[in-house]
Amino acid sequence: MSETFEIGLGNNDNNLRKKADSDFESFWDEQAKNLSWFSPWEKTLDWQPPFAKWFVGGTINASYNALDIHQETKSSKSAILWEGENGDSRNITYGEIFIQVQKFANVLKSLGVQKGDRVTIYLPMVPELPIAMLACARIGATHTVIFSGFSATSIKDRVFDSKSKVIITADGGYRRGKIVPLKDVVDDAITELDFVEHVIVLERTKNKISITSKDKLWTELMNNVSDSCPAEKLPSDHPLYILYTSGTTGKPKGVLHGTGGYLTHLHSTFKWAFDIKDSDIFFCTADIGWVTGHSYVVYAPFLHGATQVMYEGAPDFPDASRMWDILQKYKVTIFYTTPTALRMFMKFGDDIPNSFDLSSLRLLGTVGEPINPEVWKWYFKTIGKEKCPIIDTWWQTETGGMLISFLPGIETIPLKPGSGTRPIPGVNITVVDENGDDVAPNTKGYLVIKNPWPGMLLTLWNDDAKYKTVYWSKYENCYYPGDYALKDDDGYLWLLGRADDVLKIAGHRIGTAELESCMVSHPDVAESAACGIPDEIKGEVIIAFVVLKQGVINDSNVLEKQLVDKIRTDIGAIATPKQIYFVSKLPKTRSGKIMRRLLKAIGNNEQIGDVSTLEDGAAVTEVKQVFDELQ
Ligand code: ATP
Ligand code: MG
Repeated sequence: MSETFEIGLGNNDNNLRKKADSDFESFWDEQAKNLSWFSPWEKTLDWQPPFAKWFVGGTINASYNALDIHQETKSSKSAILWEGENGDSRNITYGEIFIQVQKFANVLKSLGVQKGDRVTIYLPMVPELPIAMLACARIGATHTVIFSGFSATSIKDRVFDSKSKVIITADGGYRRGKIVPLKDVVDDAITELDFVEHVIVLERTKNKISITSKDKLWTELMNNVSDSCPAEKLPSDHPLYILYTSGTTGKPKGVLHGTGGYLTHLHSTFKWAFDIKDSDIFFCTADIGWVTGHSYVVYAPFLHGATQVMYEGAPDFPDASRMWDILQKYKVTIFYTTPTALRMFMKFGDDIPNSFDLSSLRLLGTVGEPINPEVWKWYFKTIGKEKCPIIDTWWQTETGGMLISFLPGIETIPLKPGSGTRPIPGVNITVVDENGDDVAPNTKGYLVIKNPWPGMLLTLWNDDAKYKTVYWSKYENCYYPGDYALKDDDGYLWLLGRADDVLKIAGHRIGTAELESCMVSHPDVAESAACGIPDEIKGEVIIAFVVLKQGVINDSNVLEKQLVDKIRTDIGAIATPKQIYFVSKLPKTRSGKIMRRLLKAIGNNEQIGDVSTLEDGAAVTEVKQVFDELQ
C-alpha cells in the first residue's frame, strides 16, 4: 500500500467525468465552445485513423483567443511579469502585448510572410518570444521555436526541415551571467541555407554582432508599421506550430500541432488542473523552447487572461535561492516545474527554501519525468508546507497538453506520491500487454491511448510515414506513447519509465523509475539512473549511476551496500545492480531528462548516437571514465 495524502481544493464536479465517459466527442464539443470561434464547426471529429481533425469547418485564431478577447475587461491586467537573469524586470499588460503582437504581425507581413509559411524563432526567454509566436499565429504562419541553447548544427537541421524563410533571433541571451551569442550561431547555421530571406534581430544584450544583408533590427522594423492587424480566420486544423521533441530516446521528431483542437485541450486542462482564477500569479519554469512552454507558458495562460511570471535565466543563478526568491517577490500562487529541477533544489538542502516566504503558494505541479515519491514528499512538505495539492502531469510534445493528472480544479481525490492519478476526462488511456490486451490491475505493461484527443498532433512534419510507424504501428488504431506503466486497484496510473529502457532480468521486467525511486529514497542520494546491459550468463544485468546530495561524507563502499540492501528489501534481490557507479552528474537533455540510452551505450561499449540535445558533454565523459575504471 502506498502512502496517500488527502489534499484538494474542495472542488467536486462529477458531471464532467460522467459526460465525458458517456460520449467523448460531444464532451469535447462542449469544451470547444469555451473558445471564441469566427464560425462554428459542422463536424466535431473526423477520425480517419491515424489522422484526426477536430471541429471541422470551424474557423478560429489562436492569437485572437489569447489577446483580443481580453481587451474589454483585462487590458490593464499584467500578462507577463518578466524577470531577467541579471535582475531586469518588465511588467507587460494585456493591452500592451496586444499592440506589440499586432505590430510584429505587420512586420512579418511586410517581409512577405504569408499564411502557411514557416517562421523559425530562436530567442531567449524574453517577452518578445511569446510576442513573435502570437504574431505568427495571428497571420496564420506556422512557428517553429528552437530552444536558445541549441548549436548551429541543430538549428541548421531544423530550419532546413521546416524551410523557414524568416528567422527571428537576438544579438544574445543571458545564461549564468554570460552572454550566449545567438545571432552568431544563426549566422553559422544558415551559411548554406539560401532560402532564408530575412533574419530579424532583437537587441537584448547589445553585444557586438555582424550585420549581413539579410539582417533587420526588431526595433527598426517595429517603428515603421501600424499597430492594427486583424487576426486571420483560419480553419480549425490550420498548423499552428512545429516543435521538435526533447530527443531523450534518439533523433528529435518534428511534431505538428493544429489550432482549434489544441486550444480546446489547453483551455480545459488549464482550468481543471491548475484551477486558474483571475487573482492567480502563475509560474511555469519551462523554457518556451519545449512543449511545456508552448502550451502552459504561452497558449493556456493567455487563453485564460492569466498573469504569469516569466524568468529568463538558469534556475540556480546567481545562486541556489533564485527560484524561491522569485516565488516570494511575485507572490506566486501556482508553481509548475520539473522533477529534475526539484531534485536539484533538494540536493541544495532545506535551509534555502525555508528562509523564504512561500505562503502565497496554493498549488504545485510537475512535468517531464516520473517524480520519485521521495521528491514528491519533499515538494509537498518543504515547498508547499503541506497545504498545496501537487499535480503530477503526464504528457508529451505529441499530446499537446496534459493527459494524465490530478485535477484539483474539478475534483478532490487522495494523492499517492509518484502516481499521476487518472486520465483527464474525455481520453481513454489504459495499460496493455504485448498483444494489446488490457492487463489486470497492478500488472506492468504499455501505456496506450484508445481514442483521439483534441490536443493530438496532426502528424510529424513532412513525414506521415514516420508518424504512422512511431505511434500507430505497435497497436491497431491505438496511440502508443512509448512509456511503461501500471494501473493500481484504484485505477491510478504509475509511469514506470520509457518502454525502451525497461530492465529485463531473468524473465522479470522492471521499469527504470521503480529502481531509481528506490535509490533516491536513500537520504544521501540526489539522483540516479538505471539501465540494462547484456550479460553472457544472465542475458541482461542492471547497472546504476548515482549522484549524491551536497556534503555527503558516506564512504562509497558503505553506501553501495546500503543501496543494495534497500533495493533487496523494497523491490527484491532480482533488481540488484551488478555495479553502482557514483558520478557527479548524469547525462541529460537540454530539457532536463535523463538520457539512459547514453548510459546503456557506454555500458555496452557502443556508439552513443544522436546527442544533439545533450545538455553537457562532460557528464558523458565522466560517466565513461568512471565506468571504464571499474571494468
Ligand atoms: P523524444 O521523444 O525525442 O525521445 P521526449 O520523449 O523526452 O523526447 P517530450 O515530449 O519532451 O520528449 O517528453 C515526453 C515524455 O516525458 C513522456 O513520453 C514521458 O516518458 C516523460 N514524461 C513527461 N511527463 C511525465 C510524468 N509526469 N511522469 C512520467 N513521465 C513523464
Ligand atoms: Mg518522446
